[in-house]
Amino acid sequence: MKTDLQFDRDHLWHPYTSTSHPLPCYPVARAQGVHIELEDGRLLVDGMSSWWSTIHGYQHPTLSAAAKAQIDQMSHVMFGGLTHAPATELGKKLLSMTAPALNKIFLADSGSVSVEVALKMALQYQQGIGQAQRSKIMTIRGGYHGDTFAAMSVCDPINGMHSLFQDVLAQSHFLPRPQTGLNEPLHPADEAALQQAMARWSDDTAAVIVEPMVQGAGGMYFYGASYLQALRRHCDQQGIVLIFDEIATGFGRTGRLFAYEHAEVVPDILCLGKALTGGTMTLAATLATDAIAAGVCASEAGVFMHGPTFMGNPLACAVANASLGLLQQDHWQQQVTALSQQMQTELAPCQALPHVANVRIFGAIGVVETHTAVDGAAIQQAFVERGVWIRPFGKLVYIMPPYIMNPTELRQLTHAMHQVLALDHVYLSDSMPVS
Ligand SMILES: *Cc1c(COP(=O)(O)O)cnc(C)c1O
Repeated sequence: MKTDLQFDRDHLWHPYTSTSHPLPCYPVARAQGVHIELEDGRLLVDGMSSWWSTIHGYQHPTLSAAAKAQIDQMSHVMFGGLTHAPATELGKKLLSMTAPALNKIFLADSGSVSVEVALKMALQYQQGIGQAQRSKIMTIRGGYHGDTFAAMSVCDPINGMHSLFQDVLAQSHFLPRPQTGLNEPLHPADEAALQQAMARWSDDTAAVIVEPMVQGAGGMYFYGASYLQALRRHCDQQGIVLIFDEIATGFGRTGRLFAYEHAEVVPDILCLGKALTGGTMTLAATLATDAIAAGVCASEAGVFMHGPTFMGNPLACAVANASLGLLQQDHWQQQVTALSQQMQTELAPCQALPHVANVRIFGAIGVVETHTAVDGAAIQQAFVERGVWIRPFGKLVYIMPPYIMNPTELRQLTHAMHQVLALDHVYLSDSMPVS
């Protein structure tokens, strides 16, 4: 069976696309290991891990076997009033991998939903402890937390979707994006901003939500652990719930199993997703401390008010168990370190290219920021012609390869990035930057 590209153009939405002026889409026949095979037979080395998720590569035999075994038992039963081994097993694995204080798990069906769940938990917790006037969420600029409404309300107010939906979106409190760089002590401006925000807003703030260490889709921006330590301190002083969204950073991507480990700071609520099933299917989890859970259950409702149809889906849980099992074999750490070092070496030359503003690497994330925005369709084509799958946005050309990628394959990615970023026609403006 071939993809009906005309039908696709006429009827199917893709992420953030226009149906009136759809950009080209490449039909995929199969994916295996680090390769995506197009229907015309071309093999692309995957630099995106399908948006942070396929950390063990495509069709990993352990994950496929887990899915096949589970589908013969049950692919789904409702989680209301029923439970099953894949869910309890997954819960045990998650508890063993995360900080001891995190002790209660809500299995959600996507990252955005896990963020909704986290925010709702924080609000119900504040109600439960007699702090119902705390109804706002605070966050830092430049974040991305998903596309549902509460999640959107804490995305960056400029490059997020606030202007489109401002009458509907909850009004959040925004801190400036941290200036504290990786491995730097807390920047005085950040401490001042935190103090100011707390003085102004702590009375009505229920929770602060941030992506620790790495802001992903909001700008591929890295910041220092000392900022997270300061944030934890301020939240504790003010009785504010601290939520870490590790949907992108979780499961080893930054060189630690969870990014909060860099700061030795434990959040009250933790959102996980993306790589949870090794990229096989959608599943997310919201973990919370016992104190948060107790507060939620002391609220007027007496229960946590959320319960998706596909909550705790056994098939997804079984595959997640297999994926976490692979992580527990502990090769990810050497793999991520090796990818990181090779990216440091091989992406550094991009810094000398006239269109390039900045090259930065953290864990197995390599980012090249350009002076002018790239032309999405043109740069995509240039990459595909060179046998790699890299999907930039705006001024950000970045890779986060599957952990199993070998040096030759990574070299193909970094080499293609250097070649393509040197081409003038992949940028929206032809004018040379003034840098
Ligand atoms: C992708 C992402 C989300 C949203 O997850 P979905 O599964 O796409 O709903 C939320 N937060 C962060 C940090 C993400 O990277």
